[in-house]
Amino acid sequence: MTKFDQLYSALPLPLQNQVVSLYGLYWHWLRFGGNFAEHDRGYRERERFDADQWAAYQQKQLRELITIAAEQVPYYQRIWTEDQISAAKCGELTALPLLEKDPIRRNPKDFVRRDMSRERYWTNLTSGSTGTPIASMWTAEETRDSLAVREVRSANWAGVSFKQPRATFSGRMVEPNPDSKGPFYRFNSVEKQVYFSPFHLRPDTAHFYVEALKRHKIRWMTGYAVSYYLLAKFIIDAGLDVPPLTAVITTSEKLTPEMRSVMEQAYHCRIYEEYSTVENALFASECEHGHLHVSPDVGIVEILRPDGSACELGEIGEVVTTCLMRSFQPMIRFRLGDLAAWDSESCPCGRSMPVIKEVVGRIEDVVVGPDGRQMVRFHGIFVNQPHIIEGQIIQESVDQIHVKVVPTHEFSDIDIQDIIHRVQQRLGKAIHVTVEKVDMIPRTSAGKFKAVISNIQ
Ligand SMILES: [Zn+2]
Repeated sequence: MTKFDQLYSALPLPLQNQVVSLYGLYWHWLRFGGNFAEHDRGYRERERFDADQWAAYQQKQLRELITIAAEQVPYYQRIWTEDQISAAKCGELTALPLLEKDPIRRNPKDFVRRDMSRERYWTNLTSGSTGTPIASMWTAEETRDSLAVREVRSANWAGVSFKQPRATFSGRMVEPNPDSKGPFYRFNSVEKQVYFSPFHLRPDTAHFYVEALKRHKIRWMTGYAVSYYLLAKFIIDAGLDVPPLTAVITTSEKLTPEMRSVMEQAYHCRIYEEYSTVENALFASECEHGHLHVSPDVGIVEILRPDGSACELGEIGEVVTTCLMRSFQPMIRFRLGDLAAWDSESCPCGRSMPVIKEVVGRIEDVVVGPDGRQMVRFHGIFVNQPHIIEGQIIQESVDQIHVKVVPTHEFSDIDIQDIIHRVQQRLGKAIHVTVEKVDMIPRTSAGKFKAVISNIQ
């Protein structure tokens, strides 16, 4: 816990809300101050670009970024050769080597521009589901730029705005007491924003979350997909009444068709998916036709085969991205660790922005069978399992799967046999499966729910 967190924990509730609002005031300046309006306009104008205009725009931005990285960023100065740099400046991005997470994780400042080293910056940490988190460093201007793209391409596409009252599920520790009896949110009066705690969400606390939506006249919600999905399930089970909402925009975890349909049933509004990263290394958002468009002005996205060549449309490969939006700490050909495929069809909305057909999963979420088979989205084994509130799959070794479940009262040995059967159906009879009933499944330090944990290196 930081000193600030310790101080915050010690305050009574009304003062905590005031601290959140003060913090909100500061963030409001950071988000909407400076050149926010200019960034906002830029994203609106470029949305009408045709394919040629996008290509020219990216080419120009890339050339500038490569020049900066080659002349000002210590890491790239050491790693890149002259030949690679000149090829990349001519648009041949594939001439440059891929960037792993480890060098940034070990030394994030090695990626900061020398000519901006005195600039004030803010640090965002990834949740670090595997090992230590990555520190991404942002100038105030970059923070505004990233909010502008969210306002234009995410909120506005879904018919809402960051200027309207909203609720957020994120990793912020808004309620420091794990045994709190509520409320499980804090209110930022500056942005009319409810910060929900993902750590306290349970069947018996769900009604507190719904009451917060009513009290603060919340119009839309954004944040962790899994938290909104779980809240939706609890709302349906308890028959709670949700006030009218315009949209839910999910971030962070992949949204499955099942999660989407449960959420539509509970919230009575459309669910939109946003696909991005803490580093803003790429940005994709869902248009009115339900297609996930990549924003080419945020980053150049490649989907690659294991040999490094580009995937065909529809072919699943690894996502590699070059962030054009942030040059303070450039990330060039960064391996995200996600698997995805391009859509082969163009979108009826008419935007010339590439469409990702689906984000299949994360490489670290892959479950491996004793015969070497690999599967993503393994948590699908919990679909149509009405006696499980939450489930988590832990791969201990190639022949050992441990399943943790939070059961309902109806859960019995038949369900245990069913889970074992489902796992063996997918990975073969040779796999050893254990099932453990638990009261709750711990969240990561950022409040995230992990459906699959692999302990295989
Ligand atoms: Zn579209």
